Amino acid sequence: MGLWDKLKKEFSSMVDEIKEDVSGLAKDVAREKAEDAAQNVADKAKEAGEERKQNKQQQEEADRKAREDGRVCSKCGRKAAAGEKFCPECGGKIIVRLRVCSKCGKIATDGQKFCSDCGGEIVEKIEE
Ligand SMILES: [Zn+2]
Ligand SMILES: [Zn+2]
Repeated sequence: MGLWDKLKKEFSSMVDEIKEDVSGLAKDVAREKAEDAAQNVADKAKEAGEERKQNKQQQEEADRKAREDGRVCSKCGRKAAAGEKFCPECGGKIIVRLRVCSKCGKIATDGQKFCSDCGGEIVEKIEE
């Protein structure tokens, strides 16, 4: 084997080694990036989930308050106190007067004329 062939052989094996190193590095980087991206997505999903949970809790609290505030006597219209089933003034049954969306049923807050969720008209609803 001549010197040139020997050099060529050595050189090509060096190139192969370098190629392997580079592809190994590239794989590591790719894996790291993929892991980061997956972690990001997981974090975002968790955040969104927690925000949704908080929103739901706030909504439930607002609904509960609306139901409590909407309790009135069906006869004289007196605002009922907590726990009252019948009016202590006139004996009328206590009902819950709510303002809800005619489309989706969401309980409206004071002053709302249309639903903030779907644009439906707010109507009065009586719950007994
Ligand atoms: Zn009454
Ligand atoms: Zn609605």
